[in-house]
Amino acid sequence: MAAFSRAKHRWKRDNLFRVLTRNLTGKYDYDLVVIGGGSGGLACSKEAALVGQKVAVLDYVEPSVKGTKWGLGGTCVNVGCIPKKLMHQAALLGTAVKDAKKYGWQIPEPIFHDWYISFFLFSRSAGLLLPSNERKEEMIGNLHQNHIYLLIATGGRPKYPTNIPGAMEHGITSDDIFWLRKSPGKTIIVLNSSDVALECAGFLTGIGLDTTVMVRSIALRGFDQQMAVLVTDYMEAYGTKFAWKCIPKKVEKLTSGALQVTWMEINTSKEYQDTYDCILWAVGRAPETKLLGLDKLGVQINKETGKIIVRPDESTSVPNIYAFGDIAEGRPELTPTAIKAGKLLAHRLAGRSSELMNYHSVATTVFTPLEYGCVGLSEEEAEKRHGKDGIEVYHAFYKPLEFTVAERDAGQCYLKVVCEREGDQKILGLHFTGPNAGELMQGFALSLKCGATYSHLLQTVGIHPTCAEEVIKVNITKRSGLDATVTGC
Ligand code: FAD
Repeated sequence: MAAFSRAKHRWKRDNLFRVLTRNLTGKYDYDLVVIGGGSGGLACSKEAALVGQKVAVLDYVEPSVKGTKWGLGGTCVNVGCIPKKLMHQAALLGTAVKDAKKYGWQIPEPIFHDWYISFFLFSRSAGLLLPSNERKEEMIGNLHQNHIYLLIATGGRPKYPTNIPGAMEHGITSDDIFWLRKSPGKTIIVLNSSDVALECAGFLTGIGLDTTVMVRSIALRGFDQQMAVLVTDYMEAYGTKFAWKCIPKKVEKLTSGALQVTWMEINTSKEYQDTYDCILWAVGRAPETKLLGLDKLGVQINKETGKIIVRPDESTSVPNIYAFGDIAEGRPELTPTAIKAGKLLAHRLAGRSSELMNYHSVATTVFTPLEYGCVGLSEEEAEKRHGKDGIEVYHAFYKPLEFTVAERDAGQCYLKVVCEREGDQKILGLHFTGPNAGELMQGFALSLKCGATYSHLLQTVGIHPTCAEEVIKVNITKRSGLDATVTGC
């Protein structure tokens, strides 16, 4: 596998020509050329090399507007899942230290978080672990074919709003936040319903920073909205401030260095102002197709989203060109889906398998202070597909045992299991807010893949005392109107 990293300069079309040109024997030097060395691109190329394909990976990182840049590995390891989860953990530890006092630990006051230490540790532990030379040798196959496949896995990058004076000049995005050498200080995050924004707000609040989230309409669009409200309610109680139904108007830098942000409340058209040390835009992500000149090749793109239109086998409108991961239209923007889709594609192109990626019932977790994990359909989507009378929703408000001693409010710890109403009541969706939601949800995702029903839940014996056991004990239906608060042991 050859990796061409172009951190400093845009990779030139010449490079691609060199890779795509046939050698003296009339054969191509590579079987696959993967453009984009992120989660999907690297997984696909490593897998392809393992099954004997000769692969070239072309990766280029355009520095952010603020000049932040990084190496191979893509969004997840450099400016996404990994640094985000580590900062989430830093925040959870802050809460745990507070809880610890209630459990008898003597902790000297005051406690505070040192941003630089987090930055330093993260920058050493995140990033890509390249395979050893030995492993690399193993990954280079020597199969030469007379056709070449071009695989596009160039992901996306955060957008800036276009019509707000000072937005780009003074604001940062998620591409910068994890690489700041000093604490962002008092921060306002402007979000366009994204989970990333809430996650950033959660860890900033958790490490003790004054954090405000400005929301134009709703938080967590696409997720179950009852759960989204629980997540943001918990965050408000946890200390994150929310400016609901507001839109930013301008950002100015004062002589003191502070940023003065002006915004408008949509319903009243009233304008407000406050000063911040940092403004973070989380107003969506733009697919990275513009540099590739795909229109010249005839690759069909959705004009609205800018993403590449793909078929179930990840093929595009041009033979031998495939696209997967965040760049592909209609795919979940998640690392494991990009990885799995890439690996399966590598096997199909090598003629080893015909298995397609199954994008249904992919579990995910929002790493907010109260984590929210889910798999399958939201209640709204289940209602849309099966009708209100076609589904049964079992739900419970529960109290994690660890919250009791710590005297933490468990008002938003909730779970619901959305089932078909008839027969064994096949589970359509499962939603959970609480500690370690991601860990809990993985096993339930497996059960949904196996066609789990409500009857299966009832047959399962719980692990006591855990939050997960509350899922298999759930027995109150929403339809009944009964109090869903779990009481006692
Ligand atoms: P990427 O990983 O973005 O890789 C694309 C690569 O292509 C990059 O290296 C890019 O520089 C390169 N490239 C772009 N243009 C070109 C070009 N013209 N030529 C050559 N190379 C190019 N997902 C989860 O599953 N769990 C999480 O907890 C999670 N948290 C996230 C938190 C944040 C803050 C963000 C931003 C994302 C998060 N994600 C999470 C999403 C996840 O990171 C992406 O879904 C995943 O990285 C997509 O993989 P990809 O291979 O499609 O693209």
